[in-house]
Amino acid sequence: MTHYSLFIDGKSVDTDETYDVVSPGDGTVIATLAKGGTAEVDAAVEAAAAAFASSGWRETPMHERAAVIDRAADAIEARAEEISLLASRENGTPVRLAQGLSVGFPVMHIRYFADLARRHVTDQPTMVSGSVVGIIRREPIGVVAGIVPWNFPLLLTVWKSIPAIAAGNSVVLKADEKTPSTALILAEVLKAAGLPDGVFNVITGDGAEVGGHLTKHPKVRKVSFTGSTATGRTVMANAAERVKKVTMELGGKGANIVLPDADLDLAVDGSLWAFLVHAGQACESGTRLFVHRTIYREFVDRLVQRASQLTIGDPTDMSTDIGPLMNRAQRERVEGFIDSGKKDGATVAFQAELPADLNREGMWVPPTIFTDVTPDMKITTEEIFGPVVSVMAYDDIDAVVAEANTSEYGLSAGVWTTDYTVAMDLAHRLEAGTVWINDWHALSGQLPFGGVKQSGFGREMGPNAINEYTNEKSIAIDYSGRDARAAWGLTIP
Ligand code: NAD
Repeated sequence: MTHYSLFIDGKSVDTDETYDVVSPGDGTVIATLAKGGTAEVDAAVEAAAAAFASSGWRETPMHERAAVIDRAADAIEARAEEISLLASRENGTPVRLAQGLSVGFPVMHIRYFADLARRHVTDQPTMVSGSVVGIIRREPIGVVAGIVPWNFPLLLTVWKSIPAIAAGNSVVLKADEKTPSTALILAEVLKAAGLPDGVFNVITGDGAEVGGHLTKHPKVRKVSFTGSTATGRTVMANAAERVKKVTMELGGKGANIVLPDADLDLAVDGSLWAFLVHAGQACESGTRLFVHRTIYREFVDRLVQRASQLTIGDPTDMSTDIGPLMNRAQRERVEGFIDSGKKDGATVAFQAELPADLNREGMWVPPTIFTDVTPDMKITTEEIFGPVVSVMAYDDIDAVVAEANTSEYGLSAGVWTTDYTVAMDLAHRLEAGTVWINDWHALSGQLPFGGVKQSGFGREMGPNAINEYTNEKSIAIDYSGRDARAAWGLTIP
């Protein structure tokens, strides 16, 4: 059976304890994984700190860093089939989707970061006054801790690690123990591409113990976290002990608004796509669906009809649209939300029938569409992280914007309309880090991704991606010495 080790200082490291890596599609143990503890955190942070001090990576010219990063992208692309299958087996992403989410997006985004590195300005001169010239220097921060969940393991590892590495930092990445393989592949290809040992390390371990130790570690200077809002609060509190920089990519409850003039074929399929990608286990899913009352009935009928055509099944099968949830805890949590929707009086407009031949050990939850939902129900306010949507009718555009903005989350929103003036006005008024117009889940290297309100802060991707992993230093040079002489009333001889 495959065994995964930790990756510290360029070497595979094993520990006494192991995790089983379990496939959610059939419950089989597909690999074992070294379980890290605080000793491995310390070793990884020390390796990262030593590499930051003396590996020469932070002095490497930007175009050479970019070349290393590009070579890593090439290597991942060359292993596309293997990686998408691994992702599918580890977390149940339908393999057709995994080709995009676990290979296509990561490769595109790594290449974007390499291009950004080539254009990255480390030293920007500026005139301060008269004979005083300033330089704004962007320096790497030091050791950066990245913490990622299991839903898009390689993509999120890339977002956290590549810009940080491009800026000259060293990274300790805590992978989720359920989905370790792809972060380890990234470590392997970066090493082969020429990244010095210690610059990128991968550890695992229990979230509270190992994640807690990592985020509090005195030598870690920045923590970049993706996960739930609840854990994010703990991570922020731990990082605050030593006043560390933090990036928080947290939960979401995306508002999806369909206007009466929308192209209905597009809006129906797009709204399914918005809440059902990866069986709804995406932070930026569109799970609050607001449909104008004049088209509400027709829209719901069409949504149900199209949902019933989706194929639920083995995630490694190319024809599968919807796979299982991650594990039993996740399945029971989502089932609890479906029960609460029923108890609160929402109507189940659709609940998929699970095919009889599904593997009984799989973590299946049927895609579920709720109507007659009110804004106060738990299914409308809380992040479910499963294949469930709440559909609500609206009459007035101002009222729907106000309703959309009542959420404490603010990661994503979307609008379906053929009137781009209205679309742009809504994009302006919706409180979210990303607003999609006639689209959903389009994640581009060029566009910053992140949240507002309790969905977090800080941005990944976009033109400032590398800058997020730097400190600005101001350097002022007085060529004349005039100001210093004047300070104590000295006169020029
Ligand atoms: P989680 O918060 O339970 O875990 C995320 C990671 O944090 C895991 O690696 C876990 O081991 C680690 N962790 C747990 N406790 C910790 C602690 N005390 N200190 C440090 N690290 C700790 O999240 P999850 O349930 O695994 O993932 C789903 C959540 O992630 C959802 O809420 C989803 O919305 C969110 N998410 C957000 C984004 C985004 O970009 N905004 C992307 C994907 C997922």
